[in-house]
Amino acid sequence: MSHLLEEVFVHLSQQIELLSIEDALNTLSLFANDKLTFSTSFSNEDQVLTDILVRSNTPVNIFTLDTGRLFEETYDTWHRTKVHYNIQIKAFFPEAGEVSSFLQQHGPNSFYESVDLRKECCSIRKILPLGNALKGQLVWITGLRAEHSLNRTDLKRLEWDEVNQIIKFNPLVHWTTEDVKEYILANKVPFNPLTEKGFVSIGCAPCTRAINTGEDFRAGRWWWEENSKKECGLHINPKK
Ligand code: SF4
Repeated sequence: MSHLLEEVFVHLSQQIELLSIEDALNTLSLFANDKLTFSTSFSNEDQVLTDILVRSNTPVNIFTLDTGRLFEETYDTWHRTKVHYNIQIKAFFPEAGEVSSFLQQHGPNSFYESVDLRKECCSIRKILPLGNALKGQLVWITGLRAEHSLNRTDLKRLEWDEVNQIIKFNPLVHWTTEDVKEYILANKVPFNPLTEKGFVSIGCAPCTRAINTGEDFRAGRWWWEENSKKECGLHINPKK
């Protein structure tokens, strides 16, 4: 991060520290102008944020990553969300040529064979499209919560994303699962029906399963991997 950017980042962090989510969004949108963006995977957290963004009239670019391997329920939630809020959600896709040559070489389900192949699939279907989606943006709003994973316990409300060179705003960082559920019910927010069937973190269909009571939040993602961090790389901190 350049010295100037670091000063701006520190100033913004202090400015929004004690603000409500709505006021923080207002401050960040004044800073970012039309370069404020929000990535949604239609998880419960992202649905809460969509609701807050719409209610607060925050000018924001909303996008999603369509990996081509999502659950039908996720596409359905995407559609219901668009209709419910009457909003535009831009879809970013993997490069057809990259998917084609990966499938030709390794087959459609090679992510079960090794962590490296799984990461390559995530890179093609998620990381590269994410890079395209964030290009030229200044602030990226995410639904990350500290409770989500051991790798995220020191998550901050405002962070510098070194990989994507962007300021990341995590407004729900300290929300609990109960807080999220309560908001959804109280505000009649459309949600993915899989969340009622034990799916707490929903990604691609072949790589996500429901978890049992007491299991870790990320246990339902890439469950066959024993020694990986269970991250797809969208929110990796390179210093860890
Ligand atoms: S979650 Fe699975 S299917 Fe989706 S991009 Fe990663 S490896 Fe591929």
